[in-house]
Amino acid sequence: MRIGVDLGGTKIEALALEGAREVLRKRVATPRGDYGATIAAVASLVREMGEGTVGIGIPGTLSRASGLVKNANSTWLIGKPLKQDLEKALQREVRLENDANCFALSEATDGAGKGAGVVFGVILGTGVGGGIVANGKLLTGPNAIAGEWGHNPLPAPGPDDFPLPACYCGRAGCIETYLSGPGLAAHHLRLTGASLNAEEIVALQGESLRRYEERLARALASVINVLDPDIIVLGGGMSNVARLYTEVPRLWSKHVFSDHVATRLVRNAHGDSSCVLRARAVRRTPVPAGGRPP
Ligand SMILES: [Zn+2]
Repeated sequence: MRIGVDLGGTKIEALALEGAREVLRKRVATPRGDYGATIAAVASLVREMGEGTVGIGIPGTLSRASGLVKNANSTWLIGKPLKQDLEKALQREVRLENDANCFALSEATDGAGKGAGVVFGVILGTGVGGGIVANGKLLTGPNAIAGEWGHNPLPAPGPDDFPLPACYCGRAGCIETYLSGPGLAAHHLRLTGASLNAEEIVALQGESLRRYEERLARALASVINVLDPDIIVLGGGMSNVARLYTEVPRLWSKHVFSDHVATRLVRNAHGDSSCVLRARAVRRTPVPAGGRPP
């Protein structure tokens, strides 16, 4: 049996698969800010799933230099020996992979990006991440940050984008501070004085959503200029906003250095954050956590 876990900033979801058959699935709230409780929650979920190999998608990555978690918007994981602590709690080997990388690989393999040469997988959720699959192979790099566009500055900021919001990473004006769910909520609050969550703001179909689409178009255009992907697959809670798939490609043309933009923007095929992805991806990712791919 293969057990996949999606450790997110808001929820932890575990899934047990026997072949392609779903045996068991369970979701719990993430104990935000509490590292020990996060370890305990993951371990408890995995034990409930039963015996089997364990792959975990995490918001962040393991440093190649130290083996510790870095780049996690779930900041209470940063600097922690997550792999070792989970293995100690579970008494079995676990494999960790960046959640956006799992997502990109899963969608490229048998999801919305199947058959495409270059796939850019994007998570627009509690945080903003990305992963790149080229010709079926996940790209990593010496810094283990390939595809991590969320902490680039928002391109071409205009009056609506100032003041640049502070980011947990220590910079200001990061793409994540505009395009994550909490980022949208913060901008809506600043614009209107109303404290709503991302879902409520989307339901309004108003100015905040329009600005979100325009920012997403700018941010993705800069990726297209560098990577020129065949397809961009969206995941995370914001990927459920149907308008994005028509509005954003209409808006990104003027920012892309090409007379015509053939890149397609599509919704994921495997669910906005399903850990089916993780289980699938882990099966196909023989990358030891913290180590280089073979
Ligand atoms: Zn940042």
